Amino acid sequence: MGGSIRYLITGGAGFIGSNLVDKLIGNAEKVIVLDNLLTGNLQNLDKHQNNDKFKFYNHDIQNPIELDEEIDHVVHLASCASPFAYSNYPINTLKSGSIGTINALGISRRHNAKFFLASTSEIYGDPEITPQHENYWGNVNTLGPRSMYDESKRFAEAATQSYVTTHNLHGSIARIFNTYGPKMAFDDGRVVTNFIHQAINNQDITIFGDGSQTRSFSFIEDTLDGIMKILNHESSDVFNIGNDYEITINELASKIIHLTKSNSKIINKDLPIDDPKQRKPDLSKARKILGYEPKYDLETGLKETIGWFQENYK
Ligand code: UDP
Repeated sequence: MGGSIRYLITGGAGFIGSNLVDKLIGNAEKVIVLDNLLTGNLQNLDKHQNNDKFKFYNHDIQNPIELDEEIDHVVHLASCASPFAYSNYPINTLKSGSIGTINALGISRRHNAKFFLASTSEIYGDPEITPQHENYWGNVNTLGPRSMYDESKRFAEAATQSYVTTHNLHGSIARIFNTYGPKMAFDDGRVVTNFIHQAINNQDITIFGDGSQTRSFSFIEDTLDGIMKILNHESSDVFNIGNDYEITINELASKIIHLTKSNSKIINKDLPIDDPKQRKPDLSKARKILGYEPKYDLETGLKETIGWFQENYK
């Protein structure tokens, strides 16, 4: 691939986006970031501000933009991503997944660039089968408190697919399962950030419901590896990306208390409506076609994340 690739990353100041910029910029000719900084943070990109290869536009992809630069890949990540953020900004979330995706697809077309969509395990809703494979259509409540995110990403997938079939665009989709790691915002409300923040400050650990619900957590490095493999894949396709090690939220809390040597005690709060009971990616397609294999076990990833939180947020 060499150093001649030009990337446009929407949402590039966010958690996944800024980690992706760090990864891509060494081998890229140009990395352009669009972000409206609603949940992203420019500090995540500080070290690139004086790099000629890097360009930042404070722009909301919900509004059209004409770019003069040549672009090879449009990587569309812009969206609120945590339940806390998307339920606080429901209309914004719907617009970035719908209008924002159409605008990003339009940029791809005009620039003859490949398109990548960051989709989500949320499109499976509260799944009735486990693990979830790419052919599963999901169990989604269109009117529920998570619907602004689920439906915006489902629309984004449908839009990508329509541009692939109608305009012969190269368009790929990653359904990203619960990702965690350095550069998460400590107040984004997600379970890993909440538990680490609470544990290192010896505050109560808030388990929603009885904690028997499961998730499968992917360390950011593994998620980025999956994204890169999809970016380099020759054909348009959809893949689950994540880690298929599944644990309960109770187990996650114990692990984080142990790793931080915290004195926190556990308290239970109401389970949010429509909170998925289980979530685990079927990775067989990504393994077979992309050669994808997550490498970070939960303990290793949590240790790195805790270290980063201790340095940056305590
Ligand atoms: N959760 C929790 N305590 C918290 C935050 C979240 O028990 O302080 C639970 C939440 O109810 C869900 C799981 O942890 O069952 C994962 O929540 P998160 O917001 O990280 O993402 P989700 O997978 O629901 O999109």
